[in-house]
Amino acid sequence: MGGKMMHKQLNVSSLVAHAARYHGATEVVSVETDGSTTRTNWAGIDAKARQLASGLDKLGVTDGARLGTLAWNNRRHLEIYFGGAGSGRVTHTINPRLTPEQMTYIINDAADEVLFFDATFTPMVAKLKPHLGSVHHFVLMGPPDAAAAEAIEGLLFYDDLTDGGDPDYVWPEIDETRASGLCYTSGTTGNPKGVEYTHRSTILHTLGANTVDGLALSATDTLLPVVPMFHANAWGVPYAAAAVGARVVLPGPDLSGPHLVKLIDEERVTMSLGVPTIWMMLLDALKETGSKAASMTRTLVGGSALPPSMIPEFRDNFGVDLVHAWGMTETSPLGSLNQLLQKHSDMTEAEKEVIRRGQGRPPWGVELRIVDENGEVLPEDGEAQGELHIRGHWIIDTYYGKGEDALTDDGWFDTGDVASIDADGYLIIRDRSKDIIKSGGEWISTVELENIAIAHPGIANAAAIAAMHEKWAERPVVIAVPVPGQAPSEEELIAFYNEKVAGWQMPDKIIFVDELPVGATGKVQKNKLREAYGDVLMAPAG
Ligand code: ADP
Repeated sequence: MGGKMMHKQLNVSSLVAHAARYHGATEVVSVETDGSTTRTNWAGIDAKARQLASGLDKLGVTDGARLGTLAWNNRRHLEIYFGGAGSGRVTHTINPRLTPEQMTYIINDAADEVLFFDATFTPMVAKLKPHLGSVHHFVLMGPPDAAAAEAIEGLLFYDDLTDGGDPDYVWPEIDETRASGLCYTSGTTGNPKGVEYTHRSTILHTLGANTVDGLALSATDTLLPVVPMFHANAWGVPYAAAAVGARVVLPGPDLSGPHLVKLIDEERVTMSLGVPTIWMMLLDALKETGSKAASMTRTLVGGSALPPSMIPEFRDNFGVDLVHAWGMTETSPLGSLNQLLQKHSDMTEAEKEVIRRGQGRPPWGVELRIVDENGEVLPEDGEAQGELHIRGHWIIDTYYGKGEDALTDDGWFDTGDVASIDADGYLIIRDRSKDIIKSGGEWISTVELENIAIAHPGIANAAAIAAMHEKWAERPVVIAVPVPGQAPSEEELIAFYNEKVAGWQMPDKIIFVDELPVGATGKVQKNKLREAYGDVLMAPAG
């Protein structure tokens, strides 16, 4: 027999409705594509989202239609998140840094019915349009613009669409197992594949992330999501911020260090999120401007491994706590997040720092395990390394459209990452399985070699790759970017690994370059480096 409590579907629209009702006056600051700043609040976001939903109805956009977005982090994008999903459509965020071919593939694969885009992308959309057969409506995210209307036949304007909509539109109750969002993997290691979130998975992810030992996001925070809204839903924070009524600052297209410093200081940002490359740029900008980022208390770092040397740098110079998290598009994305336990309270800062370097523990709602190549579950002793598996309420089970089951026979998702887990459940990502170096049957973590190189004062950034080797099959080669004006030698850098790793893990060679190739989500493209340098240890042909 069922219990006697109300049953309501878990719907994404409930988040923005709550924010509007109980945090209506809390500001949402938005840097627009033209560089201007606009200020609205949660009541305004909700009203516009309702107008958008109603406008889409008037336009005849079908129930369940995918709404593609090519957009920066700005307030219209936030309204589409809620207005799309809240009215039974699916908000499909597209990464505009992909190649035109990849974007065309993704839009066609998703069969997007509407494509919303920021002015930045007008020329690109004009070029792609003939190849986008499923798209009935192209909508520029802004006020009417004659030049854009000329470039794209039949172009609609977001502000017309919303102004013509009803701000009192009533959010329908939607079956919680229906799709609310769609996001393609960034393709760092293969072809992009669609991951379709449900209303239920999104709400449970929001609740799982919004705990004090999770994001610890609050109505007293001012949140700056630097991670793009097209990168795994900005890690879920558009939803999380609405749920708690945090003040939000959306940074627009300019993610340069100086612009972020300006926003942090002028808007008194308390918390931010982004990939490590962003924080490297921010550190440089803080040093250059002399800003102390005084309002900032913490930053969530994920997407790729956090170089451990950044933790004391931010803590000691700026009082900013770096919280390391791990996740994937397929995991909504939060899989684990690093906070300490009660038993760690008496530790010294140095001891705590050792724990804080890893990727942390799963929040309620997800579970992790590691397995060997035969699928046998490995011990959680901090030593054993294996393929990382995850399962839970907000983890993929089937890729979009393909009917391709993404799970193991016993119902776990294989992440493609190689990891260890310690007795307290703390995760340490050793590598991606495609990147790890297999030297004579032993595994060497590229992440560990990179972290050591980056800790050298003369090195700004580094990537380690597996280079082919006649005797050992693969050996480590480190591609390093020196700090401008410095020229550390290869011998010096190799010697820097002494005592830090076992002799057989030392890099065979260091190659100095001016910059590393970076992909569409700010991650170093090691496949490109392997193509360029994978054979440097082999005898020259002929
Ligand atoms: P892509 O795999 O195309 O880069 P995602 O953005 O979904 O797309 O990236 C997920 C992957 O990013 C993870 O499987 C993992 O390899 C890597 N990753 C994410 N967070 C971390 C982290 N904190 N440390 C190390 N690797 C991470």
